[in-house]
Amino acid sequence: MNKVERSLPCPLCGGVLVEKDVQKLLRGGLHTAVLQVKAEVCLQCGDRLYSEETVQRFKDIRAKLKNQQTEEFTPLGRSFQVG
Ligand SMILES: [Zn+2]
Repeated sequence: MNKVERSLPCPLCGGVLVEKDVQKLLRGGLHTAVLQVKAEVCLQCGDRLYSEETVQRFKDIRAKLKNQQTEEFTPLGRSFQVG
């Protein structure tokens, strides 16, 4: 039994975690990016756990948003501030 990651319970409530495709919203500077990633989602409290690789990807994308390096991203629409 080398693979222990599958059997880890939710760190918040001890519930069961299942791998799901989730949508993640990232903000950097004035920009927002939406991406589809895999996450371990708790069936009980809905908490999401991301792999280290995914967390690193979030950081990279946030940094790019902040630095206006958005050429490689597909524009989805504009964001508006209301009020
Ligand atoms: Zn939980």
